[in-house]
Amino acid sequence: MSIINSDKHPLDLYLRTERLPHVWCPGCGLGIALNALLRAMQKIGMDPDKTVVVSGIGCTGRAAGYLKMDSFHTTHGRAIPFALGIKAARPDLNVIVFSGDGDLFSIGGNHIIHAARRNIDITVIGVNNFIYGMTGGQLAPTTPETSITTTSPYGNLESPFNMPGLLSTAGASYVARWTVVHVRRLEKGLEKALLKRGFSFVEVMSPCPTAFGRRNGMKGIVDSMKYYEKYAVIKTDPNPLDGVIKPNEPFYIGEFMDAEDEPTFDDKLWELTKKDFLESSQADRARWIMEHRRRLETIANLIAGDSTHEGGDVHE
Ligand code: SF4
Repeated sequence: MSIINSDKHPLDLYLRTERLPHVWCPGCGLGIALNALLRAMQKIGMDPDKTVVVSGIGCTGRAAGYLKMDSFHTTHGRAIPFALGIKAARPDLNVIVFSGDGDLFSIGGNHIIHAARRNIDITVIGVNNFIYGMTGGQLAPTTPETSITTTSPYGNLESPFNMPGLLSTAGASYVARWTVVHVRRLEKGLEKALLKRGFSFVEVMSPCPTAFGRRNGMKGIVDSMKYYEKYAVIKTDPNPLDGVIKPNEPFYIGEFMDAEDEPTFDDKLWELTKKDFLESSQADRARWIMEHRRRLETIANLIAGDSTHEGGDVHE
């Protein structure tokens, strides 16, 4: 039977279909962003049993509940440290963070900078919709200047974060930005990020017609998509410092950073300890392995005890 006539979807392997339909508004870009991630995972043959997805709070964070793999819907701003704990306990797993701009760059801002600085081997997908959508459309650290939000009714006075600039200069191995209009390029970028060793980050620009678009001259989803089409400029190797987004002005999309063979935190730790380890007696090596196994089990138990496993209904 062809897939067209089947009641199966090609991405069923990765989705908890019993939890659909999703909660996202009509016209929201989050479905496209999640679809692109799952297609990228499928393309590179990523095993869902060897993959963990961590989300924070907000509309984007709801994605964790729809994924048929170990997924964690964590507290606000704590997706990154949660992911780091999982990676420390189970370095054999693919660890992915899928969260929004408010969660990752406001309350979670320090965490993401330091994870990039340490070049921890995880992949972070940061969905940037310019706003806090779920909580009512408040000003976010990525809201472009002069934009109208519920907490900046006369226009935003603050400069937004340049995500690619911030993380490229902090030490990330891979940094890219795409929009949900450039979906094929987005999928390719996500494939690359998932395969990259070290800290990889993809900013996904995605419209929030409900909380941002309608207050800022984009009456419907088509206007939002046209905005990306009009102002996004695909550039080869853009300078990360040129990643600033200003309203109604062209902005760059593409790969801002693609470092070759940058050592990860684990690589450096191994370099530091391997001489002693390799020169130690067999009994000492066995003791070292036992101690580390105990430490990893403790971390894993702490995580399991502090979280809602299986993408549970934390914020219905
Ligand atoms: Fe999407 Fe915005 Fe609706 Fe949230 S509020 S689901 S980001 S459109």
